[in-house]
Amino acid sequence: MNTALKQWTERLWAPALDILFPIRCLDCGAPGRFFCPTCVERMPKLEEPFCEICADPGTEGICGWCLDREPEIDGIQAPYLYMRSSPIHKAIAMLKYRGISALAPELAELLSKFLQKSPSTFDCIVPVVSHPSRIRRRGYSQASLIASHLGERLDIPVFEDGLTRVLNAPSQLATRSREQRWDNVQDSFNSELDLSGLIVLLVDDLVTTGSTAAAAAHALKSAGALSVFCIAVARATPRPQRV
Ligand SMILES: [Zn+2]
Ligand SMILES: [Zn+2]
Repeated sequence: MNTALKQWTERLWAPALDILFPIRCLDCGAPGRFFCPTCVERMPKLEEPFCEICADPGTEGICGWCLDREPEIDGIQAPYLYMRSSPIHKAIAMLKYRGISALAPELAELLSKFLQKSPSTFDCIVPVVSHPSRIRRRGYSQASLIASHLGERLDIPVFEDGLTRVLNAPSQLATRSREQRWDNVQDSFNSELDLSGLIVLLVDDLVTTGSTAAAAAHALKSAGALSVFCIAVARATPRPQRV
């Protein structure tokens, strides 16, 4: 099937898939939720030490990359590690590539519980929006869906149009070196809002290297944001995990 036809078929079927997809624990198969309480406890978590800025696992203090580059993001956090053995890996792939948008509320719930453990004050939430071509193909921007549910849970306004993706960089996971990833995403975003003096919580599904979050923070600070912190559901480990 050619690519255009495949995309068209996927879009046509996406809403049906979402409705028909059974809500069962992605790990043990128990009905009712995608993440049952027992399996949530077992999911691999991002634990200290990790870089204070990009959350690079295994780094004490600030990693060499962040010391050299001085990214404009003030900090990245993620409750879980992006490992193949984890249902988080499956969930992000299903949300991103299979159109299962019903996952977004539970992913937002996981983020909200994580953030409530050490409450901070944020003036607004801005999603790391997908490029318009990806939104057309998928029918939604997965980070925007998660952000919208998270905003409701935390009672923080969500600026869905806080960022515009002006450059469609190749998938972070498909890009090999961190240098290449950094170069690919620079100037990816634009913000047309006035965010003067605001503390922004940037929301994404996955942080691979922190380069995308840094590029988003650059755009938000250019629009006046005082500080920008990023929360993602999962943080990739430096090398792909095949556990
Ligand atoms: Zn389970
Ligand atoms: Zn770092």
